[in-house]
Amino acid sequence: MTAKTLFTRIIDGEIPGQFVHQDEHCIAIRDINPAAPVHVLVIPRKPVPSLAELTAEDHALAGHLLLTVARIARQEGLENGYRVVINTGEEGGQTVPHLHLHILGGRALSGHGTA
Ligand code: AMP
Repeated sequence: MTAKTLFTRIIDGEIPGQFVHQDEHCIAIRDINPAAPVHVLVIPRKPVPSLAELTAEDHALAGHLLLTVARIARQEGLENGYRVVINTGEEGGQTVPHLHLHILGGRALSGHGTA
């Protein structure tokens, strides 16, 4: 059996997380090392390793994750805009091998990264 990812351990309550959303398909938690005043991670319960491993079978899940991002952004008061980042693979700067969407907002963002 493969080891649980960090995010699966948070989903399972083995490691604490600051939850801002939970539903049948995904959760959202505040990033432990925020790069902006609002920095939330939207994470599928299914431990898909990265965006590159999403398949046609995950079609509905992919849509649900994006709709959840927009919903949380509204909930967090980001009416002036925000950034969504999906770091993918080693060269993409991904450090946790469990798909997650960063929502960054609450300040003016420039460039293309999470910083
Ligand atoms: P990435 O580099 O795209 O894989 O992003 C992983 C993110 O997870 C980073 O922004 C980390 O700050 C964040 N992170 C790591 N451990 C935790 C944790 N225990 N709770 C919340 N966020 C975390």
